[in-house]
Order: sequence, then structure tokens, then C-alpha cells
Amino acid sequence: MFKKTLEQVVTYEAGKPIELVMREFGIKPDEIIKLGSNENPYGSAPRVVEIIQKNAHKASMYPDDSMFELKNALASKWSVKSQNVIIGAGSDQILEFCMHALNHENACVLMAKTTFAMYEVYAKIANVEVCKTPSDEHKLEEFESLYRASLERGKRVSAIFLCVPNNPLGECLDSAAVESFIQKIGKDTLIIIDGAYQEFATYKDKAKAFSPSSLSAKYENVIYLGTFSKAYGLGGMRVGYGIADSKIIAMLYKVRAPFNITTLSLQAAITALQDQDFVVQCVEQNAKEMLAYESFARENGFSFIPSYANFITLSRAGLDSTHLCDWLLQKGLIIRNLASYGLNAFRITIGTKKQNERVFELLKAYGANHNHLSNHS
Ligand SMILES: *Cc1c(COP(=O)(O)O)cnc(C)c1O
Repeated sequence: MFKKTLEQVVTYEAGKPIELVMREFGIKPDEIIKLGSNENPYGSAPRVVEIIQKNAHKASMYPDDSMFELKNALASKWSVKSQNVIIGAGSDQILEFCMHALNHENACVLMAKTTFAMYEVYAKIANVEVCKTPSDEHKLEEFESLYRASLERGKRVSAIFLCVPNNPLGECLDSAAVESFIQKIGKDTLIIIDGAYQEFATYKDKAKAFSPSSLSAKYENVIYLGTFSKAYGLGGMRVGYGIADSKIIAMLYKVRAPFNITTLSLQAAITALQDQDFVVQCVEQNAKEMLAYESFARENGFSFIPSYANFITLSRAGLDSTHLCDWLLQKGLIIRNLASYGLNAFRITIGTKKQNERVFELLKAYGANHNHLSNHS
């Protein structure tokens, strides 16, 4: 009854919800710290919460399907025209649109070995071969050789995914290097630049900043993706967007169902864009707290990848990430185990100062506990 290709699709395991920790360990919700899904630990901007409350009575109405106001606001933010913008239920949905709309006949898609798991899920649902670079982190030379090798064996490349910064590792390619790369790739390949964490990267290093307006003006085979789920603090509202040449956007519109985001989400995103101060404060605070994680890691023997996002990926020799994550969960701390990526490492969303202090305390306690046990065995 179902597609054969689904046999190879592994159901995406989302970050664990607070409700699960309440149910399984009887911990009170206000004692649970959730740093597993890269949400904004400062919540949403107060005026966004207010607008959602004010518009609650509109829940019975479909949203403005033209999304006129939000598209205009995004077009003005990024200096493009509204026909260069498409809105999705999270940028995840734009990834899905791309995979649905592309011609995958005799093609493969390219991605880094360790990157956002949904790329592979959407690709496999579209029944297209997935080729990964040998290195975990993004290396453009490897993408280039994979691209050439695919063409040489008679396979087209329908899409290339570049995650800048990369989730779950945190590294980020320079935008200038990506642009040189784009120039080496044929027009038949859609290059997807996933900027879910761009606000954080741009704050840390201008060399990581991408310009969707210049990319969409110069290249008819590039799409830039942004989201309201991370720096904008609207993970629960499900709003993301794509910016590209109007011909790409028009094709993606063909696979979009009407009313794909909610009336309240639309209002929330429009208002969130008007409160850039909130975003700047969150990003600044994130950078400060990131330094605290780096010091903690150095002082306590953890290895880490310098991160351009709102999370940090850590590991330590002899430490089993699955055991650690399960232990932390019982203490009410949710982080992301990377065992499902084949790595003995874990990813922690940078929280508030208070949350992070608790994380450090628990990680130290785990270390002490662990040594104690092994000394007596
Ligand atoms: C969070 C995330 C997204 C998009 O999330 P949405 O909530 O669907 O907007 C896209 N790509 C990466 C790499 C992410 O981490």
C-alpha cells in the first residue's frame, strides 16, 4: 500500500517535550529545563504575546492567504520584492516544497555527512538518492568533488543542501566561499542555503552573513531559507520563509496548499519583525552565554566545536552521551543526544544564565558520580 522508499525513512525524533519528562519522572514543569530543540530561552517578545492574545478571537477565520503584510515586511527587511518570498509552516515546509517540486529523475541530492536530519527525510520521501560528504562538517571541496563525481557517473544533482550554521555541529561556511562554490555548479541544481541560525552567526562574524537579495538577483538556482523559530522566539507558531528568484518561488507555490500557516502565526511573525531590539538582545545574550559554555568545557575536559549558532556540541573521551542524556533527563534537563547521528556527543541549546548554571552543576555532578562509580567497581 505504501511507497517502498518509506522503508528507508527513519521517523524524525524531535527533541523531547517537557510533557514527557513530567509524565515519566514526575518532575514539575517549572523545574524542567528544556535545552534540546534550540528554541529561544527568552521566549517570544512581549508584544508578540500580546498580539496573539488580542487576535485570539480570529481563530475561527482562515488567514489572509496572500500573506500580503508578512511577505511585504520580509521583502523590505531583505531588500527583495514580495514575489521573491514564500512563507511556510516553519522553513521545514519550504524544504519539503523544494523536494516535492524538483525534478529528481536520474538524480541525487548532496548534503554534509552530519547535518539537519530532515534533509534526508524529505529527500527519501521524494525517492531521490542521497549522497553525503565524507566529513561530518561542511567542506566545500568535498561538495565539489561529489558534484563532479555524480555527473561523471551520469547522475544529475537536483539539489545541494548547505546548512549555515550547521545544525547539529555549529560550524559555518563563509558566505564568500559559498558564492564561489555556487559559480561552479550548473543551473540545473537548486542550491538550498539554510540560514535557520543566521542571526547568531552574523552577530559573531560578518564573514558568515548571507545576502538573500544579492543571491536571488544573481543566481536563478539558489534559495535562502530563514525561520522565526530560533532567534525570533516563535518555534510554537511555525513560520519560516524562502527567498529566491521569482521563477523558483512561482514553482514552489504550485506545491503549497492554501492557508499553510495559521491566522495567529501570521500576526505573530509580522509583529516579531517589528521588534528587532528583542532579537538583538537575545543574540547578544546568547553570545555571552556561549563564552560561559566554552570556559566550562575547557575547565572540565570537554571537547567542543566553536559554534556560530544558539547551541553547542560537546563530547568527552570515555563519556557515553546516551547514558549522560538519560541521566540528565531524570534530573529534569532535556538536551539533545547525537547518538542518532552516529556520534558520541551531545548538543545543548544555550539557555539563560540561570539555566546554564544548572547545566554546569549537573554536568559536574554527573562527572563526580561517574568517577565515584568506577572507583568502586
Ligand atoms: C530549526 C531548523 C530549521 C527550521 O525549523 P522550523 O521550525 O521548521 O522553521 C531549519 N533548518 C535547520 C537546520 C534548523 O535547525
